[in-house]
Amino acid sequence: MRTGHFTRNILKGNDGITSMEDAPRLCPFCADRLGIADYREGRCEICNDTCMDTSLADTIDPTFEYHTFNVGVVLPKDVVERDEAFVREHELAHAHGIKTALNRALRSRLSERLNAQADTEDPDVIFEIDHIKGRVFYRIKSLALCGRYRKEVRTIPQTRWWCTKCRGRGCEHCGHTGKMYPTSVEEIVSAPIMRVASGRKTKFHGAGREDIDVRMLGEGRPFVLEIINPKVRTLDLEALQDEINKDERVHVYDLRPCEKARIEKLKNTKYRKTYRAHIDKKLSNNEIELIEKKLETEIRQRTPIRVSHRRSDKIRKRKVYKVRGNNNKTTVLEIYCDGGLYIKELISGDEGRTNPSVSSILGTHVRCTALDVLEVHCDL
Ligand SMILES: [Zn+2]
Ligand SMILES: [Zn+2]
Repeated sequence: MRTGHFTRNILKGNDGITSMEDAPRLCPFCADRLGIADYREGRCEICNDTCMDTSLADTIDPTFEYHTFNVGVVLPKDVVERDEAFVREHELAHAHGIKTALNRALRSRLSERLNAQADTEDPDVIFEIDHIKGRVFYRIKSLALCGRYRKEVRTIPQTRWWCTKCRGRGCEHCGHTGKMYPTSVEEIVSAPIMRVASGRKTKFHGAGREDIDVRMLGEGRPFVLEIINPKVRTLDLEALQDEINKDERVHVYDLRPCEKARIEKLKNTKYRKTYRAHIDKKLSNNEIELIEKKLETEIRQRTPIRVSHRRSDKIRKRKVYKVRGNNNKTTVLEIYCDGGLYIKELISGDEGRTNPSVSSILGTHVRCTALDVLEVHCDL
């Protein structure tokens, strides 16, 4: 136990008269962290003996995989306020605040008992020892995996799509599945991983998304799969990727662990895309040349009618950088453009809401019959 500070401070303005009756009642933990030698034993006037009570910390017994941990003590507000007042009153500016000191003490206690490594920066789990609720919460860091996916079919959405009528509870409308579609890229990718990692749920973050009836081909689209509350963190990703790829609808490449920060990067970066659009008319070579010439420009696109119920009505400006037409059995256009351009409407013109469009250039109504994303130009 350190000595000195308290004696010096408490005597101040006391005409040199000192008496143990002036000494505060403290628990040994508070006395030690505040550097106070002269104190009376008894119920601690700062912490109510909370600091001496390790019963909550002693219940910590994780049944999930973790390699590093941190401790976060939650104390009643009045305890923290009494601590701050005490520090102010006795001018103990050097002292460790009650939470900091307790966290530190519990870290070393737990490190020893659990034989685990403390990490205050980015631990696998935070043991939140809550003295208000009287229990311990395990705040497990989610597991983030990234990779790229190809979607080979025109029948599944990117993410789990809850039934719009019952919002997942199950109803007549959704055949009591709670979902609009039986499966999704998210579900196909996450199922084998969840069987091993045993998480509570997943969140799927793509670098943009394609419509249900659009295939995602080429090198695939970058994504991050977040596994919330995983019980297992060490995964054989190569084996899992093979397992996922047994499903012919979705293929995953380069599956690997990543930082959670990657999610924000994926969301906030603009990507150019290359599409392949099949159209419902066979065009002449002259018409294709005309489109190649006239469509490589800035497109003004008002929010399409088909998404206007869920997207705000505004005009976007996006560029088409390159168009190449191909005229075999049917006409196919390859379009290299800014992300966020609605390609079906770029073909149809969407009743004049997209300008110019393939329809407006040809002066006749042209429709996209099938669409593929050939590449998401993303170097993340
Ligand atoms: Zn105390
Ligand atoms: Zn439903």
